[in-house]
Amino acid sequence: LSVSSLTGTSGSSGSAGTAYRLDSQDSTASVDDGSSTWNAGRQTSISIREWDIPYEELVILERIGTGRFSTVHQGSWHGDVAIKILDMENMEDEATLEAFRLDVSTFRKTRHENLILFMGACMNPPKLAIVTSLCKGNTLYTHLHLRKDKFPLNKVIIVAQQIAQGMGYLHHRGIVHKDLKTKNIFLEKGHAIISDFGLVNVARRLCARHTAGNRSTPRESMSIPQGWLCYLAPEIMRALRVHPTEGEDLPFTKASDVFGFGTVWYEMLTGEWPWKNQPPETIIWQVGKGMKPSLANLQYSRDVKDILLMCWTYRPDDRPDFTQLSNTLEKIPKKRALARSPSHPVQLSRSAES
Ligand code: ADP
Ligand code: MG
Repeated sequence: LSVSSLTGTSGSSGSAGTAYRLDSQDSTASVDDGSSTWNAGRQTSISIREWDIPYEELVILERIGTGRFSTVHQGSWHGDVAIKILDMENMEDEATLEAFRLDVSTFRKTRHENLILFMGACMNPPKLAIVTSLCKGNTLYTHLHLRKDKFPLNKVIIVAQQIAQGMGYLHHRGIVHKDLKTKNIFLEKGHAIISDFGLVNVARRLCARHTAGNRSTPRESMSIPQGWLCYLAPEIMRALRVHPTEGEDLPFTKASDVFGFGTVWYEMLTGEWPWKNQPPETIIWQVGKGMKPSLANLQYSRDVKDILLMCWTYRPDDRPDFTQLSNTLEKIPKKRALARSPSHPVQLSRSAES
């Protein structure tokens, strides 16, 4: 375990990550689908041209947010769209472009009602961008952590099922999301839409550049994006290093996505992040050792809590896949899922309908 060498830049006891450099975690999905390797070469190159959007055709409107190596804008291209523009500073080499083209060739194959709609990409350097549908609803993060909306349990189950189905499809396509979190799940008219998957290869290259070129992070400390740690499986925690070497990759897998889903399930049930108020070093150490947050105060029935335990299982091979999770969620008797307890008033006063 390398966690003993991880130090923060402050001893604040605020919520996890608050006192650290707060970076926006960006799209970092990965492909393990042998069929989509760039060896497909020429043919792939021709077919992805169909998805090329000339940069001049895009109307770029207000900025919605900035990630580690990209900026998201609202825009217009045959209607409202979201445009993720990659920060390509000095990275217009052929290898980066190939990585981007490979990602586009994977992205265009994703067609599922719980995944963000890929509409096309600008593939002419220095302007590289991904164009997707614009989600008008709030993210689950905004609902749960900013608006403090309470979801009735039946709704939690339905939304979780939709996420499990979208993720199951993504995995079936050979895509590991790597960044499943409530900030990357939108709710639109009660419908869950997962975003920020698919930019695997280009993200890896830009990330390595970012890490190598980043002189602002002091030695003996690492940059921990806010709200990132609690989604990380033990095997990822154990691989965290203070100084990641260029190109080093954390061991994200389908099973680590399932762990992240467990955290999303916890957030939907409680409105909190697990390990609330614990400093990052403590979280890394505890999760790396196989400890789980206490569920003692969680007033839900056994089958609801079991989903958390299954997703948070220490050994990646012992975690269920999303098809199993979807079936398990289906079987939860919706009316009886709350444990009968007078100490747990069901808060329906402000339902998070959207
Ligand atoms: P993060 O996911 O860490 O919040 P991003 O760079 O992915 O960072 O997104 C930046 C902002 O843009 C976020 O507020 C996110 O909700 C918003 N955003 C990203 N994609 C879309 C989209 N397709 N539709 C609407 N808003 C989006
Ligand atoms: Mg995002």
